[in-house]
Formats: sequence, structure tokens, C-alpha cells
Amino acid sequence: MLIFNYKADLEAHLAPYISKGSSIGFVPTMGALHNGHLSLLRQSVKDNNVTVISIFVNPTQFNNPEDLEKYPRTVDADIEQIATVSPDIIVFTPSVDEMYGGNTQSASFSFDGLEHQMEGSHRPGHFDGVGTIVKKLFEYVNPTRAYFGEKDFQQLQIVKKLVEKQNMPVQVIGCPITREPNGLAMSSRNQRLTGQDREKAAFIYKVLNEAKEKFKNEDVMQVKNYVEQAFAQHPEFELEYFEIADEDTLVPATVKENKKYRGFVAVMLSNVRLIDNISLN
Ligand code: AMP
Repeated sequence: MLIFNYKADLEAHLAPYISKGSSIGFVPTMGALHNGHLSLLRQSVKDNNVTVISIFVNPTQFNNPEDLEKYPRTVDADIEQIATVSPDIIVFTPSVDEMYGGNTQSASFSFDGLEHQMEGSHRPGHFDGVGTIVKKLFEYVNPTRAYFGEKDFQQLQIVKKLVEKQNMPVQVIGCPITREPNGLAMSSRNQRLTGQDREKAAFIYKVLNEAKEKFKNEDVMQVKNYVEQAFAQHPEFELEYFEIADEDTLVPATVKENKKYRGFVAVMLSNVRLIDNISLN
């Protein structure tokens, strides 16, 4: 398998594919790979002539230094997992210096308000960090298609907005959430949970499904109250937010209109921050 640490080597390798018009699929990740990441890779391999995955823990998107420090880094195991999807996948694992050249700072973006909701207000600077790294990576990889998980639904919408605003010739493709058999959304951060906590964390998806069921007959505020009460009765979870928001604008709803809605949740469990979301209608 080809593994590049330097953008110049990656660009040199990809240049002939770009000039002959081959399609390039791209899956940006922060590593500690699991089946969710692999599902994106499989989709990319299916759709494109060449697939590139990046593994880079991007410091500028972490608002909490402890979270950055504790983020799992398992590159050798990651490479083995990638090879199970296809040995032809190209891996890009740059250093922080290679990506930021000694200036580890975010550019500042406007995403037409998407950045002010939910993760944006709870993680200051997070989406500027995401925008900065995705823009750099897209410039080096020149993907035809880029694959992002609905697990981070707000990030997916932000990347679509980035591409639209910067006129980048990339098709951004959203992929469904891969879950554990108990319903817990797969996440690299789950590695920091004990087995017992991972069982407990199945509660998050259970509540999201109950919210979806209630949303059929109850109004927005009733459903929100229900979810807040459900978490309040389980004090091992500290609820950061539950929002019902318009899928396109991510503006939280207070009353139902003729729109597509999703429920979005962020909770802390044993000092690990977990997010999930569900389509409600
Ligand atoms: P990360 O390594 O957490 O930055 O994630 C890299 C990509 O994988 C992002 O587009 C995520 O949304 C996606 N992803 C992470 N977890 C899942 C999951 N459980 N199902 C589908 N996609 C996921």
C-alpha cells in the first residue's frame, strides 16, 4: 500500500491520474479507524478509479487541549484496516508541520450561519479548524468526490457550504451512520469508553428513536422536553444539547413547518463527549 507523509509526493503521484481524467475519491479522517470510516472507503472505492484516505488529527479543530491530547492515534492498525478494503487505497499521513508549516492556526470562514448552531456554539473555533484543514486537503488531493459521514451531520453541511462558497470542483457525498449492534454510533472516541460505558451509551440512540416516534404526533417543544427529561433521569449522562433543527439550515425549530428535521444530541459520558443525530420525518 502506498503511504505518503509529504504533500509534494502525494501531488506528484496523483498528477498523472488527474491529467488523464481519472476520478479521485477522498475520505478525510483523524484515524483510529472503525467500520464507519471503512464504509466511506468502500463507497469511494466503488465510485472512483482511485481512492485516497488522509489520517491527520487536526489540532485547530480541537477547542479542548485535553481532548486533542487524548485523541486515539493508532496508525499501524489503521493501515491494516484500510488494506482489508483495498490494497490500492492511497494513504496520506502528514505531520502537523507539513499541513501548517509552523503556523498552526485556522483561517476564518463564514458558512452562512451553519457554523453558529450546535457544535459551532459548543466548540468555539471548531468549524474554522475543519474548514481550514478540509480546504488544504482538497487542494492537495483534488478529489472528484469526497465522502463524509452523517455522524457529523453539521460538518457534512459545512463542507458542502465550503465547496459551494469556494467554487471547488468537488462533489461532497454524505454517507449513513454506522452503528454498533446495540445502536451506539461508531466513533473513534468510543475507544475511550469502558465496555460497560459502551453498553450504557446505547441509551443515546434509544432516546433518539423515541424522539422520532414522538415527533409523529407531538410538537417540537414536547419532544425536546421528553429527551431532556430522559437524560435527566440518567445522571451518568450530562446532556450538552438536544436540538430539533431544519436539515438544510440547521436552525433549531420551535414549531413544526413543512421541512425536513433532524434531532441532534451531544452528551458527556465518563468524560467522553459523544454526538449523534437522527432524521425525524
Ligand atoms: P473522524 O475520523 O472522526 O474525523 O471521521 C472521519 C469521517 O468519518 C467523517 O466524515 C465522519 O463523519 C465519518 N464517520 C465517523 N464515524 C462514523 C460513523 N459511525 N458512521 C459513518 N461515518 C462516520
